[in-house]
Amino acid sequence: MYDQNNIFAKILRGEIPCKKLHENEHALAFHDINPQMPVHILVIPKGPYTNLEEFNAGATLEEMGGFMKLVAEAASMAGVNETGYRLVANNGADAHQEVPHFHVHIFGGRRIAGRMIKAQD
Ligand code: 5GP
Repeated sequence: MYDQNNIFAKILRGEIPCKKLHENEHALAFHDINPQMPVHILVIPKGPYTNLEEFNAGATLEEMGGFMKLVAEAASMAGVNETGYRLVANNGADAHQEVPHFHVHIFGGRRIAGRMIKAQD
């Protein structure tokens, strides 16, 4: 069940501010409030989807396409499209998803130490 009071829902309603990078009809890209890398962008769909399962079940192909297009455009606008970047979606409890509104992180701006993300116990 989607929580209408989660922090990203409040950002989408304009109730709390964000440092917006880019948006289109279906998605919004903004800077993470606690950046883990020189470039740390969050991209969220504008629809009420808790996770990828809800996004897959409820979003139209136009919403899905608009979301993915914004991920690519945000990476380009953040200046990491040529140097490279890592996309991460923490999805659900086992992945420690904190905000219950589906989102993708764009990490970049420096060389990431490990070639692969390692799952740590
Ligand atoms: P998760 O662990 O759910 O994948 O990541 C949630 C992300 O949202 C975290 O990186 C956190 O720093 C970010 N975040 C949490 N609250 C806010 C906020 O109010 N504004 C912005 N811009 N980012 C937030």
